Amino acid sequence: MTLPAPKLLIGGTFQDAQGGDRIPVLDPSTGEPFAELARGRSIDVEMAVASAHKAREGAWGRMSAMERGRILSKLAGKILERAQDLAILEARDVGKPLAQARADAIACARYFEFYGGAADKLHGDTIPYQAGYQVMTWWEPHGVTAHIVPWNYPMQIIGRSVGAALAMGNACVVKPGEDASLTALVLGKLALEAGLPEGVLNIVTGYGEEAGAALARHPGIHHISFTGSVAVGQRIQEAAARNIVPVTLELGGKSPQLVFADADLDAALPFLVRAAVQNAGQTCSAGSRILIERSVFDEVASAIAERFSKLSVGPALDDPDVGPIVSAEQKARVEGFVSRGETSGAALLARGKILDDAPKGGFYVAPALFGPVDSKTELAREEVFGPVLSLVPFTGEDEAVAIANGTDYGLVAGVWTRDGSRALRMAKRVRAGQVFVNNYGAGGGVELPFGGVGKSGHGREKGFVGLYGFGTLKTVAVKYE
Ligand code: NAD
Repeated sequence: MTLPAPKLLIGGTFQDAQGGDRIPVLDPSTGEPFAELARGRSIDVEMAVASAHKAREGAWGRMSAMERGRILSKLAGKILERAQDLAILEARDVGKPLAQARADAIACARYFEFYGGAADKLHGDTIPYQAGYQVMTWWEPHGVTAHIVPWNYPMQIIGRSVGAALAMGNACVVKPGEDASLTALVLGKLALEAGLPEGVLNIVTGYGEEAGAALARHPGIHHISFTGSVAVGQRIQEAAARNIVPVTLELGGKSPQLVFADADLDAALPFLVRAAVQNAGQTCSAGSRILIERSVFDEVASAIAERFSKLSVGPALDDPDVGPIVSAEQKARVEGFVSRGETSGAALLARGKILDDAPKGGFYVAPALFGPVDSKTELAREEVFGPVLSLVPFTGEDEAVAIANGTDYGLVAGVWTRDGSRALRMAKRVRAGQVFVNNYGAGGGVELPFGGVGKSGHGREKGFVGLYGFGTLKTVAVKYE
């Protein structure tokens, strides 16, 4: 596919950043530059926000929900038509194995399809009130919404937040991650082709401290959807507080999978491994620690180790089990966790294999499996954001819950047991925004409300409920007698 030009999408036009500077884009599979991005700064953000306001005051603000939905559905179709091209671009940009990148493109289309279909299904209430009154509630868009997106799942995250925001009738300004902005620019072009009016979707590429910070603090922004790290999420919430605007924070995780002795291990194993290494472990909801009932610890650990040692690591376009890490900086960070893990005394049970012909300059890390890991150590508590899995033994439900809830995070949890009552007890007691029983992250979850508790963030995206965050409820009380 032809690479998108290093431009910003503002007011329906692809244009250079005002400063004229560019950011090189590296291919994580080779470490070599292969594209460029425009380096947007606050002046570009200013223009993007102004164009979004203008779009809200124009045809977009007057358009019926049904028409908005049709445009989003059309966009979904265009994304599906271009799914393979988008997947190749994402694979090169993020280092994501091709099949995973393709699944992301399809999920992105599904978000626009889902929210396109939902746009005209959202309605308010009529409320019984005093005699002579008619009271009703209306859902209205916030106005102009900001979407600050990380590099790990650009297409999916744009689909879930921009899809819902547009369905509600907002105009958007998107700041994609500086390490992965290329597919965002293609999505912007496809949105225009699908008939989205000019200025409704603006995309400002650039660095977080420049374009991202300027967007977060802009007084013309009425809602911020942020997905990324805890440290930046704290800054975003501070910026939102200054302007008194709502913010959705989708942050990190250290999601546990609880494996009880009565679990169907054959069914569990593929999920346990995939949830840890998908996208090279750079997944907010990665099942990055597995809590295993002590009586079956050795059996489960050796079954996982066998699968781990067979994982192939190589260039994204070759579609290996595990691709490279997104950048040299992230690679060094992940390797730091592995070497500190080794010196902490946790046994390194298995490592995947970097293919011999993988380019030497690529940012590869062989997946690492540690266990048993002390539940109080860094490996068991901190988000690595790489293909590193920790196995932690437990005895009984109480200890399982104490360990599962023993981090600052609470995004997703998995429970593996054949005992239905225990599954429900665990689902109730585990602190997480989503709990999967005898599966994990199945089906991508476009329809399933998603978000965290604790330092995993607040607010919910995905599913029908994801629409509500992008709207505000107006109560209208009419006295007719
Ligand atoms: P990051 O926080 O470094 O960056 C996220 C976005 O914020 C990028 O677009 C970046 O340019 C921008 N940014 C950086 N500094 C900024 C600032 N000062 N002001 C405004 N914007 C700024 O995160 P990342 O490294 O790109 O992504 C990895 C993190 O994202 C992990 O912690 C992961 O768990 C989390 N994540 C969470 C979810 C979820 O849904 N819960 C999904 C994906 C990723």
